Amino acid sequence: MTTDTVYYVCKYTPLELLDGFGVPSERLDPAPASFECADSCAHPNLCGYGKAVLEEVLEKGIDSLLLVDCCDVCRRIYDVLLDQGRMKFLFLFSLPHKCGNAEVSLIRKELRRLSEALERAFGCRLKEERAFASWHKSAQAEDRKEPHILLTGAHGGKVLLNTIRERTSLPVTDGTCTGSRRLPEPAGGEFYAGYAGALLKQEHPCMRMLFRREESDPYAAGIICHTVKFCDYYGFAYRQRRENSEVPLLKIETDSTPLSGGQLHTRLDAFNETIQAQGGIASGRNHRIRYVAGVDSGSSSTDAVILDREGRMIGSAVLPTGKGAASGARKALDSALARAGLSLSDLDAIVATGYGRETTGVCDTSVTEITCHARGAHFLSPEARTVIDIGGQDSKVIRIDETGAVINFVMNDKCAAGTGRFLDMMARTMELSLSQMSEMGLHWQNEVAISSMCTVFAESEVVSLIAQNTPAEDIIHGLDMAVAGKTVSLVHRLGGEPSYIMTGGVAQNRGVVKALEEKLGEQIFVSDMAQLCGALGAALIALDRG
Ligand code: ADP
Repeated sequence: MTTDTVYYVCKYTPLELLDGFGVPSERLDPAPASFECADSCAHPNLCGYGKAVLEEVLEKGIDSLLLVDCCDVCRRIYDVLLDQGRMKFLFLFSLPHKCGNAEVSLIRKELRRLSEALERAFGCRLKEERAFASWHKSAQAEDRKEPHILLTGAHGGKVLLNTIRERTSLPVTDGTCTGSRRLPEPAGGEFYAGYAGALLKQEHPCMRMLFRREESDPYAAGIICHTVKFCDYYGFAYRQRRENSEVPLLKIETDSTPLSGGQLHTRLDAFNETIQAQGGIASGRNHRIRYVAGVDSGSSSTDAVILDREGRMIGSAVLPTGKGAASGARKALDSALARAGLSLSDLDAIVATGYGRETTGVCDTSVTEITCHARGAHFLSPEARTVIDIGGQDSKVIRIDETGAVINFVMNDKCAAGTGRFLDMMARTMELSLSQMSEMGLHWQNEVAISSMCTVFAESEVVSLIAQNTPAEDIIHGLDMAVAGKTVSLVHRLGGEPSYIMTGGVAQNRGVVKALEEKLGEQIFVSDMAQLCGALGAALIALDRG
């Protein structure tokens, strides 16, 4: 791709200067399927975003790139590309992180250096009136003055932005480090002098700036903080937000490769439900209702609960999900209906939840397992304020208020570490049933540390411990403590507080519950209905919504 277009990534790129030179510019929005090219020339510790930019440049043969050194990864990209020596135009614009007189004069010099480089590379001259016109246009960009969802943090790109737009019910504003950009109006005078200050003092500074960062947005009804794996800055920014935010907050971490749908959708749907609930979306019981059902279509089991109009449970079932969400849901529902002595036509509302909630085929509506576990947990233990839900493939920690509404939640990322699947695989390796594993975890003698939470590595550790004749009880306790450690870090991340309730299938594992209690230093309430809690919450929501 040899054109005169200069590609860029950062919102501090002097786009108005490029316009003044008549050089077209375009922002890169990389979402590569792999890092094949980037991995062949860059150090492995480059963050996903850095690799994605490199991949795009190398794969598409881009030969003009203007980088800003506001984040370290841009310097690394510059070094790699400079070393390759194949770029027609490659420039690293140096950006100060404060905005006093010294910094403004520094950036003015930098603008002149860039101008000389543009003249040399493209043989054009700056037309000040064109640059001023572009600057004026950039000063006209309007902020949203209506309730919206603010996406902040690291570059998320079109894919993330569109996914958020699809799954949420409010407009979405891109406030990431490559997003919204508004400069102060030109005040006349010499172009370079005024523009240097304006570029530095733009309205929505990025996290690297040491002033006015992460200002509050009075119209944000919810904030999504996007971080890229290994990006420290936005990790800190999220922490700051978490301490100060009065609106629902969601952290999404990606590695700049195509997004994995399931978990991201659950997080976004739950976030949207929380915003709606806090916006006071009314619910009122419909007294003509006779019976309702909740179906939790999970990765491991499909659970169904039937309630009468008073909220009494009159039937339930927990069955393996099997091959498909639809057939699993129908079987679990039929089994719960049979126990209640009812048929499908007796049900006035069915709410689905769980991983397969959108494909059960028998339900009227779907609600995320976050909201359903919160609702079910509040029903089982009204004083609960933190719900720990560990199922087959996800582990979640949910903070709830005195009404059972979700305040905030965190969820494990893609891998199975610390989930039921991890324990299932270890039980299989040790040739034990889940009930045996649950019991044996209570009768250990010596501490055994399982250092890896990666399922594959942990399995090798377990195999070598077995080979060393380590008692099975000690190995299981080591596994329980590893799961508990991973879960407690989620609890701390969320700022969980007593009283605690545990839900999901892993709540039946007594060894894990004990290990969690030990690490938390708090008692955890576990109901007989722990595994049914999601389905129970869904049925209660069906009852609420009529
Ligand atoms: P999902 O909702 O993803 O289907 P569940 O909430 O049903 O997950 O939890 C499934 C997990 O519960 C299993 O992976 C297993 O580790 C655990 N589990 C199920 N039954 C038992 C049991 N009797 N004892 C201990 N653990 C159990």
